Amino acid sequence: MTHNALIDRDRLWADIMALGAITDPARPYTRRSFSALFLEGREWLEQRFRDAGLSTHIDAAGNLVGRREGLDPNAGSIVIGSHSDSVPSGGRFDGMAGVIAGLEIARDLRDHRIELNHSLEVIDFLAEEPSEFGVSCVGSRGITGMLSPVHLALRNKRDEPLDMALIRMGGDPARLEDAVRNDIVAAFELHIEQGPVLEGNELDVGIVTSIVGITRIEVTFQGTAGHAGTTPMTLRRDPLIAAARLIGWIRDTAEAFAMRGQGHFVATTGIVEVLPNASNVIPKTARIVIDARSENRGLMEEFCRKLDTESGEAAEAANVDRVGLNRLSDSMPAGCDPALRGLLHDSAEALGLSCVEMASGAGHDMAFMSLVAPAAMIFIPCKGGRSHTPEEWASADAVAAGTEVVLNAILRLDGKQI
Ligand SMILES: [Zn+2]
Repeated sequence: MTHNALIDRDRLWADIMALGAITDPARPYTRRSFSALFLEGREWLEQRFRDAGLSTHIDAAGNLVGRREGLDPNAGSIVIGSHSDSVPSGGRFDGMAGVIAGLEIARDLRDHRIELNHSLEVIDFLAEEPSEFGVSCVGSRGITGMLSPVHLALRNKRDEPLDMALIRMGGDPARLEDAVRNDIVAAFELHIEQGPVLEGNELDVGIVTSIVGITRIEVTFQGTAGHAGTTPMTLRRDPLIAAARLIGWIRDTAEAFAMRGQGHFVATTGIVEVLPNASNVIPKTARIVIDARSENRGLMEEFCRKLDTESGEAAEAANVDRVGLNRLSDSMPAGCDPALRGLLHDSAEALGLSCVEMASGAGHDMAFMSLVAPAAMIFIPCKGGRSHTPEEWASADAVAAGTEVVLNAILRLDGKQI
């Protein structure tokens, strides 16, 4: 650890553990957005924010905001935040580490009697993980004005629409425009890497260059169902053969793209649906869904073009029809702000911490925040690169080091002598 640490490592750690303890006991660690447990976690957080001297409110998009006024009312706000919701049977760090890091920074500023010119806001963004309404990043979408009436009409399994659920969370769907911000001069998020790079290379922190855009594409092939025993091999129209060829091509192509040195690129075929899916029947249809992610939009467009050509050729070779090729969803990559990245880099260096620049292969609230403010992310190593599992783990030193870097960067941004 560093010599001149401003933050209280043990207090930071104790609060991460305490928030993690608010979980469904049968399925640790689960605190799903919009649930009673989520509200219990929020209540705990809000009290912690208040104890840190922050004034608290829930904005119209359901984000919990803890605010500390700056000396200069015209200087704008510096935001540090992440999310307190988890995936089912998730971990105690994904999201929570970033929220508690913000809380700890607010406490450190108070403890060391440091007044900032900027106002500081610690934000727990609502429902970053895919929610029961099928939409993720609800709160950060709201702050950027991208929570649409279509989103608000989405319903969960209990037939509750998102707008009603938002009211339960303390938000106000009728005044969503109030949640949109134009006064944020910098938004920071600390997050576990959720991958193996930092740990594998014994690096202290990662500075995120950009957050990948995610494109999901559905390809459907149609052939002719038939008897698996009596239809000769030469007379078959088996759509799964085309899908299988395409799945292999997707893997090979993604690997080749990743090797090009033009930025992060990965692609996964995560859904394969075969009908009628019976052992003695030649399939009638085969549907696959591809999840492709890149920080380079050009690479993504090239992949989509080639996928179009290759899926046509795969259909032809198997003597079946390609009846659908649809982009189910498509988000742009989000660049992190170069100036804020520079500040984080300088801070890490000044604190004697090793760092590397890297893309984020996972989506984050900062992807939305970057649409309304300069945004940046710092990654800390997590054990085995594992996340979205109860075994998810980051060391107390790793969380403390990352938090120290963000605090240092905030002080630099505010013009303090370091
Ligand atoms: Zn997260």
